[in-house]
Amino acid sequence: MKGLEAARSLPYNRGVSRPPSSRPHPTPAIPSSAPEPLATAGGAPVRATYLPLAAPWIGEREKQLVMETLESGWITTGPKAQEFARRIADLAGARHGVAVNSATGALHVALAALGIQPGDEVITSAYTFVACVNVIEHVGAVPVLVDVEPDTLCIDPLAIERALTPRTRAIMPVDYAGHPCELDRIMGLAAGRGIPVVEDAAHALGAMDRGRPIGSIATVTAFSFYATKNLTMGEGGAAVTNDAALAERMSLLSLHGMNRDAWKRYTDTGSWYYEVVAPGFKYNLSDVLATIGLAQLERFEGFQRRRAELVARYHEGLADLAEVRLPGARPGVTHAWHLFPIALELERLTCDRARFVQELRAENIGTSVHFIPIHYHPHFRESLPYHEGDFPVAEHAYWRAVTLPLFPRMSDRDVDDVCAAVRKVAAHFRR
Ligand SMILES: *Cc1c(COP(=O)(O)O)cnc(C)c1O
Repeated sequence: MKGLEAARSLPYNRGVSRPPSSRPHPTPAIPSSAPEPLATAGGAPVRATYLPLAAPWIGEREKQLVMETLESGWITTGPKAQEFARRIADLAGARHGVAVNSATGALHVALAALGIQPGDEVITSAYTFVACVNVIEHVGAVPVLVDVEPDTLCIDPLAIERALTPRTRAIMPVDYAGHPCELDRIMGLAAGRGIPVVEDAAHALGAMDRGRPIGSIATVTAFSFYATKNLTMGEGGAAVTNDAALAERMSLLSLHGMNRDAWKRYTDTGSWYYEVVAPGFKYNLSDVLATIGLAQLERFEGFQRRRAELVARYHEGLADLAEVRLPGARPGVTHAWHLFPIALELERLTCDRARFVQELRAENIGTSVHFIPIHYHPHFRESLPYHEGDFPVAEHAYWRAVTLPLFPRMSDRDVDDVCAAVRKVAAHFRR
């Protein structure tokens, strides 16, 4: 919770997120049937053991395939990374895939391959992971932040339209929590200007927009296979596109700008010769990790089905609780359900979000907050011209956001425990 600790020291907090010890909180009158005391007050926690926010599911298949790759003699970028890139492109409905070692790397090579340069403006969400904004800075461009839509917390197309200038060279929307952003409208805005859309789909592998897979629509779509993501290899990423030349350029830039892949150079059919045609990066994916991804792909449909079941159970367990609002999906959307972020109705509670999270932790429920708005981070407060109040929807969401545990290996019982803990804490702090 480093980020949260840091956020408390920001000038923006205005006491909203003061450490709980410094704020008097009401002692609830004891009703005739006294509720179970909170774990922080010496009561029994809802769960005896800690439930994390997310946990990978590495099975025997992953182990078996990794052993085969380790024994194959080829452990860095090679046939497995190539096969994985092809499979991800297929799943995402795109013609070409480039496997890299993170989504951050995928976003970076996408901007570089598209020729985004110093002075160019790139529009992205104020409510995203810092990777988006960092890579825009890495290519020397100017990040232009815009607000999100209140229901999906995805970038707001109207806000994009208002932020367009003659210097806008790309739009980088984010599929928040796994809900696709308004791609048709965003693509329309971009097409009108002849600029590309680089979609951050780190949360959205498997999501669809009216039957079209995420990955088949934007100019480039980036996926993450980080430890907590819906499909994982510990660290990994991919960029997919329908543009063959762009795919070729991203692939080149992902490995030092060299015009031949190492595995082709060192097999006996290949050649020792290569040329560096651009100062590329070192973002290539190793075959060991790609192998984990290939095993995960075999199970991915089942993972996604299980996520949807768990979400349905959360809805059953919490729908009637007035102190929280639950995330949903717009009509026509297949949600990837990477995250289950609820919003606290602070007006109905006597505690703030930080206290709510702390109480859940004591009840043995792991949570997180997605996201700390970009302009709240010290670096971006200095490098970007934004202030508190500039992105009211993102800021409103931030102070209320609590992401609950969601991962396919969770049991129904685990979801019930989370619901019980949320109900218990909400009951204690009910106004
Ligand atoms: C996880 C994440 C990333 C970065 O993914 P890496 O693979 O760790 O680089 C980018 N954007 C969003 C929205 C993410 O959640």
